[in-house]
Amino acid sequence: MKRINLVLDIDDLNPSKKWGLEKDKGEFNYINKLQEEFIGLKVTLFIPANFEKRADLSLNKDWVDWIKGKQNIEIACHGLTHCGVENSQDPREFFNCTPWDIGFRLTEAKRVFENAGIKVKGIKAGGWDVMPEFYQLAPNYFEYMADHFIGTKPVRLENSNFYRVPYTYSVDDIGPKLYDTIILHGHITQENGNKNGLNLPIYHCIRTYLNDLNSKFEVNYLTMSELVNKQRLEDTQNGR
Ligand SMILES: [Zn+2]
Repeated sequence: MKRINLVLDIDDLNPSKKWGLEKDKGEFNYINKLQEEFIGLKVTLFIPANFEKRADLSLNKDWVDWIKGKQNIEIACHGLTHCGVENSQDPREFFNCTPWDIGFRLTEAKRVFENAGIKVKGIKAGGWDVMPEFYQLAPNYFEYMADHFIGTKPVRLENSNFYRVPYTYSVDDIGPKLYDTIILHGHITQENGNKNGLNLPIYHCIRTYLNDLNSKFEVNYLTMSELVNKQRLEDTQNGR
């Protein structure tokens, strides 16, 4: 049976109401149910350090202990506040801002995670769009970023050890084409109009898809950082 890799990444979980404060009683329970059904399924969670300046991880110890106690979860950074520098309604935190703003937010986000006792290797910029300087600064803090392009292979940034990771399908729009590696992307909730946020229909989309993959392949579940490590090893072996 052919072996394929599968990464599932979910954005925006944080300790505020409707976004994850409810822990296992909220949308996170869909992740629990998927992990119960698909043994070994790994989920990479992109979590803002202080979502909308009201959910500072370092001030939510119980919540942090809850998420850290989960199996097969990678916690990664989803920026500092998920709000634009000039316009707090804009979710694009690293867009329309100066290199100084970018550096400040990366430093602060990293500090909050450290204070919360969480080691993070990856980042995804809130709202996805970034200024070009982001690519110069982020490698000083992180090993990889989940970037806004479609694909199946992490790509190393020139002259660095930093990887840009694409996504293959959004969980509300999974295409028929199969690849050796599939990166599925979604959100923890449909709040703020996220059509790929977890709810009952989206949960069923994911489980139907995983069942289908498992009937055809041996599915190797990876966190995003494991996928990056695998790519790094391959690139090194190929002298890239
Ligand atoms: Zn987000």
